[in-house]
Amino acid sequence: MELNFTTFTNIIDGKPSTTAEKRYSINPSTKEANPPVPVSTREDLDAAVGAARRALKGWSETPWEERRNVLLRYAKAVADRKEAFAEMLTREQGKPLMFALSEVKSSEGLMQTLASVKLEDEVVLDEGGRRIVKRYVPLGVGGAIVPWNFPISIMIQKIAHAVLTGNTIVCKPSPFTPYTGLKLVELAQQFFPPGVVNALSGNDDLGPWMTSHPGIDKISFTGSSATGRKVMESCSRTLKRVTLELGGKDPAIILPDVDIPLVASQIAFYSFFNSSQICIAVKRIYVHSSIAKEFVTALVAAAKQFKVGDGMESGVFMGPVNNSMQYEKVMGFLEDVKEKGTGEVVMGGDVGRFRYKPADKGGKSGFFIDPTIVFNPSDDSKIMREEPFGPILPVTTWEDEEEVIKRANDTDMGLGASVWSKDVERAEKIARRLEAGSVWVNEHTSPMPLAPFGGWKGSGIGVENGRDGLVGWCNVQSLYVRREVKSVL
Ligand code: NAD
Repeated sequence: MELNFTTFTNIIDGKPSTTAEKRYSINPSTKEANPPVPVSTREDLDAAVGAARRALKGWSETPWEERRNVLLRYAKAVADRKEAFAEMLTREQGKPLMFALSEVKSSEGLMQTLASVKLEDEVVLDEGGRRIVKRYVPLGVGGAIVPWNFPISIMIQKIAHAVLTGNTIVCKPSPFTPYTGLKLVELAQQFFPPGVVNALSGNDDLGPWMTSHPGIDKISFTGSSATGRKVMESCSRTLKRVTLELGGKDPAIILPDVDIPLVASQIAFYSFFNSSQICIAVKRIYVHSSIAKEFVTALVAAAKQFKVGDGMESGVFMGPVNNSMQYEKVMGFLEDVKEKGTGEVVMGGDVGRFRYKPADKGGKSGFFIDPTIVFNPSDDSKIMREEPFGPILPVTTWEDEEEVIKRANDTDMGLGASVWSKDVERAEKIARRLEAGSVWVNEHTSPMPLAPFGGWKGSGIGVENGRDGLVGWCNVQSLYVRREVKSVL
């Protein structure tokens, strides 16, 4: 059956399911209401967890190859509907349509790549009549808690890990972006047996109900570090397994030998893409003092090319930020810069009135924010230490290599980092000393599905993607098999 993107329901045990209460989120470009979605109750959660539990035996005993083939057929079905998913994504999230389309395409790619990985039994010892085999056994029922910045790819990532490894799953999209997540799971019903993939939309209480639910064995959470702490605390009571993919404050270290216009344009892209609402966006720039002036001029010139506006309009690079809370949060960073006099706003930010003035709102009234660049804030300022998750970017300078490594590592976060230089050997030496889960030389924000992705320190626990990501959805079992009973007496 074809999907329609006008009515949205929960999906429990393979079937659509409605709720008495409804809510809706708004299109951040226009502030118009999107369609109604369910507000799930505890009973809905119990029903979804029950369905996932009932489906577990059959699915976990389905051979890996068959599970992989089902996932691949589903991946194709998602890609075949990429336009419809992308349009809905732009309406709920705000990102430009071309980037919404690439989010759907990259989700297909992620499923295809993950499907090429397989966890096989490993013989760890075979001697003296005894064989020891390391096995990967599904954990059980998983709970996926998804944020609003990449509602499709993060939901798909969690579904793919769970189903490949033989787990079943209950998915919760963000209340700000529930639409594409619900439709992804509706579409999944055409491929997976009932109860294997379920979805619930709800209010702020649904996440905590999931993390404390005794019938859920693992929570795969992506969101802020503050919420991640609450998730872990709640999961500890039932000793659930957790994967936490949390916030970041990624540094980019620019060495003096770079091609300034080229690197500045790349950094502008990796900072302002998705209106900077990316966990692994560049969020602190350390540029060598000898090129700082020229680099900042080039960075501003590159960022000025970015058209801000409704993601449905062609040529738009930056849509609005996703919601009013996020808008006010970014304002708070600008106000702090102005009030404390830390740093010079060299681009964006209507500093006179402490309010941003969208360059081009396309005649609409959404949560638009111009790309904003703050030069030379102090290392202890809010903008250098915290994650705005919006388009306000600090640039500072360095002179001594040891010192800049220390400053880049001086953070509670450890998600991503990058080093930029023509001297790749020198850049790699610096990169190896940075405390982050993903470190790039001469690029940033470029995770690949075969490489484990996760945060150090306050940026997370565990990883997704690659073999290690799949292992995170399994119990490891050491199976000892003796061919004959050996007397120990
Ligand atoms: P958030 O923490 O506010 O919400 C994330 C999800 O958690 C939502 O579905 C929300 O409804 C749910 N939630 C809220 N409170 C909860 C609770 N007490 N228990 C359980 N669930 C709860 O995050 P957000 O604002 O949606 O997303 C932005 C944050 O996510 C940023 O900090 C960003 O860096 C981070 N992020 C990290 C990654 C990564 O892979 N490391 C990827 C994307 C986003």
